[in-house]
Amino acid sequence: MKSLPSVRHFLSDKERCRVSDRRIRRALEEVLSRLPEVVSQALLNGERPLYIVQSSRIGGVVTLGFPSGLTLLTLNEALKERPLGQIVGIVAHELAHLALGHRFVSWEGKRKLRLRGEYEADALACQWGFQGELMAALLTGVEEEASRRRERVS
Ligand SMILES: [Zn+2]
Repeated sequence: MKSLPSVRHFLSDKERCRVSDRRIRRALEEVLSRLPEVVSQALLNGERPLYIVQSSRIGGVVTLGFPSGLTLLTLNEALKERPLGQIVGIVAHELAHLALGHRFVSWEGKRKLRLRGEYEADALACQWGFQGELMAALLTGVEEEASRRRERVS
């Protein structure tokens, strides 16, 4: 996988890319490198600079209301427990939200809130070529939800 100089530059920028887990970093590098160049350029070098942080508490996409505008993507640490392909799918989905201009969304609560925005992000991530990874991540979510329901019933 070739990664563009701008992607490598972003990943080594400790101010903008505060992700310490190696597997999450690898997934980020893969997604950013596979994105259409116009999209990665817009995300990394656009008017609203992208910051990515790893958090144990929040996940999803948040835009802070600074006058200059910046975009903050928080990735939950629990992501690292998933297979790499699923992390790639989830990161692609979150970046699709950003590319679509969606704000304040999270992977948690997916399918419950604002379904249209979720489907739009899924569709764009698939268009970028992340269909397999995204399906794997979504199916795992569905299985987890189903087993939680079974536990509640029994
Ligand atoms: Zn979403």
